[in-house]
Amino acid sequence: MELVSEVGYFIATGLLILGLQRMSSPRTARGGIVWAGIGMLLAVVVTFGYPAHSYSLHPESVVGLADWRLGLIVGALALGGIPAWWSGRRVPITEMPQMVAIYNGLGGGAAATIAAVEMYSGHAYLTGLTLPIIAVTGAMVGSIAFGGSIVAFLKLQGWMMSPRFPGRRAVNLILTLAVLALAVCSIFPSSASPFIRMPVIWIQTIFFIVAVALGVLITLPIGGADMPVVISTYNASIGLAVGFEGFVVHNPAMIIAGTVVGAAGGLLTYLMATAMNRSFGEIWLSEFGDVALATGEGAPRTMQSMEPSDAAATMAYSESVIVVPGYGLAVAQAQHKLWDLVQLLQNKGVRVRFAVHPVAGRMPGHMSVLLAEAGVPYDLISDLEEINGDFPTTDVALVIGANDVVNPAARTDKTSPIYGMPILNADQARQVFVIKRGRGTGFSGVENELFFGPNTRMVFGDARSVINQMIQSLREL
Ligand code: NDP
Repeated sequence: MELVSEVGYFIATGLLILGLQRMSSPRTARGGIVWAGIGMLLAVVVTFGYPAHSYSLHPESVVGLADWRLGLIVGALALGGIPAWWSGRRVPITEMPQMVAIYNGLGGGAAATIAAVEMYSGHAYLTGLTLPIIAVTGAMVGSIAFGGSIVAFLKLQGWMMSPRFPGRRAVNLILTLAVLALAVCSIFPSSASPFIRMPVIWIQTIFFIVAVALGVLITLPIGGADMPVVISTYNASIGLAVGFEGFVVHNPAMIIAGTVVGAAGGLLTYLMATAMNRSFGEIWLSEFGDVALATGEGAPRTMQSMEPSDAAATMAYSESVIVVPGYGLAVAQAQHKLWDLVQLLQNKGVRVRFAVHPVAGRMPGHMSVLLAEAGVPYDLISDLEEINGDFPTTDVALVIGANDVVNPAARTDKTSPIYGMPILNADQARQVFVIKRGRGTGFSGVENELFFGPNTRMVFGDARSVINQMIQSLREL
């Protein structure tokens, strides 16, 4: 049975890695998710048959078929699985970051709970020093990520702002030192007792509480614009925490899956931070990106608007158009209509391409997924580096529901909170049409200079309805 389980874990791990590899391209991503899902299902099923003696340190924790704990585990699977299945089908793609944040939190909480069981029961301390160090480190990372991810979820959901109280950095520093000290005491419970006159179980409990509080407090002041990188950092740390706890309970699937998630999350964090030109320190300490920090409080300036029909006619008589899709396109679910519009323009001899910014939308690859769903051929889609040099020779940049990713202040205004973030140079096109519903700012809360540019015309309205009107006008031309 042990061999069967090990082989099952091996196959599950292979499927997870293969799935991840396939997720690296929009062409194969859908299949990748299915492969990884099958791998995860296999890992869960195999765990039921994992034999007693594999848990060499605590065989009594193994589930036998007659064991009452089997009912608990099946109940827990149903409790987690059914809402996850339901919400996975229901949640719109634009709310994916919240979903990732809440799942991150649960992952961190699960890793911390496993560590707690091992620490409270004393199993983690049965052999040498290595296991306690690994268990407590995993507990610390998992608890911090749990607290932080819950705050990230609440903020992304719009249920919480970013409260900033005086002296918060000092509080965070003190809490960090306290967590580290309590972690050391939890690793050496017997040597800690002469100094701290309280039962070990209390030291461990305070350690967990302070670690969760630290996660909450360090995430509270971080502004919305940095949230994607924060979530992805927590994602990477939770992978590591799960991997650590895998060592403690001798579970190879947890070790491998945790390490893979940690590595993939780390790489994603790096790529997203690079795409936003933000260093790790800036993200965790600069508190950028909230409405409270938004610029543009000076005298009101005017935006020039245009009717959809006029914008459509101008595009029809152009030689080249670059479409810049953003979050608003996803909200309006206008990707199919957009592709219809583009095909009409192509039929009129216009060269149309799509420029996709790495953090456009609300999740990595969001725009590529959206355009792929509408059937846009991949060779029409370019990323920032490929296409940025072409804007000055392009007749029209059609910005649809994008804001932060085309804000020239990132390039020119050293006082702007988004200064330094690489953007798509849509403002350099001969003419810019921006489709959005109103005068509101983007995700970062920063005013967009592009909308006031002399060559910019705002085409106000919901992206889907504006594109519909443009299609109508093109058909009548
Ligand atoms: P933004 O969020 O900056 O702007 C979106 C714009 O779309 C808004 O200004 C809004 O203006 C407009 N909009 C909303 N709904 C509609 C609609 N139905 N029709 C037309 N327009 C609409 O989007 P970007 O894609 O430019 O930038 C992404 C931002 O999200 C970045 O700041 C990035 O850091 C952040 N982020 C990215 C993640 C990622 O992984 N990609 C994850 C989380 C955040 P109005 O209300 O006036 O219509």
